[in-house]
Amino acid sequence: MTGNGHRTIPTGAALRVKALEALLEEKGLVDPQALDAIVDTYETKVGPRNGARVVAKAWTDPAFRKRLLADATAAVAELGIAGPEGEHLVAVENTPSVHNLIVCTLCSCYPWPVLGLPPVWYKSFAYRSRAVRDPRGLLREFGLELPDDVEIRVWDASAEQRYMVIPERPAGTVGMSEEELAELVTRDSMVGVAKIAPPARGSSR
Ligand code: FE
Repeated sequence: MTGNGHRTIPTGAALRVKALEALLEEKGLVDPQALDAIVDTYETKVGPRNGARVVAKAWTDPAFRKRLLADATAAVAELGIAGPEGEHLVAVENTPSVHNLIVCTLCSCYPWPVLGLPPVWYKSFAYRSRAVRDPRGLLREFGLELPDDVEIRVWDASAEQRYMVIPERPAGTVGMSEEELAELVTRDSMVGVAKIAPPARGSSR
C-alpha cells in the first residue's frame, strides 16, 4: 500500500492473483464460479453501459445533470447504480472550451459501477505518465485532435475520488430518446480519450 489512497500493483500481480485464487480454492474458501461471475458482470454486463445511461439522462434532464455535477455518487444511485469502487464519484463535464481526461497516475483507480473494469491501456505506464505530461499528444494518438484553444483538464483518480467524464452531446441527436442516446455513449468518451460521433444518418434500429 502507498500512503495516498492508491493501491500499488506489485510486479507480477496477475501471477500473484492466480496463486492466491488457487490457494483459496484449494482451501475451499472461494467458489471459482462466483469469481468468474463477478469478473463477467463487470466486464460485460455492467461494463460501461451504466455510465452511458447516466450520460444520456444528464443530456435530457437538466435537473439530474445539476445533481450529477454536485454529487455524482448520490445522482447515479437514483438510477440504482452503486457498488465497490464507486464511492466518491465525481462527474466532470466537457464543453466546447473544456475537455476532461481521467487517469490514475499511480495505479488504476477507476469508477467501476459506471464504467466497468478499466481497459488494459488505462493501467499502462505510458498512459499514466503521458496523460499528465502531454495530454494533447496522448489524445492525438487516440485519434482526438483538439483545437489549441480547448483547455484540457486532467483528473487524477484515487481511492478517495474517482471521476467520469460527461461528454458533449453530439449534433444530429435532437428528438432522440434517452435509450437511443445511451447507445451512442462509448466508454472511451467517458474516460475522455474520445468524443462522441454524431449518429450515422439513415441507420434506424
Ligand atoms: Fe490509483
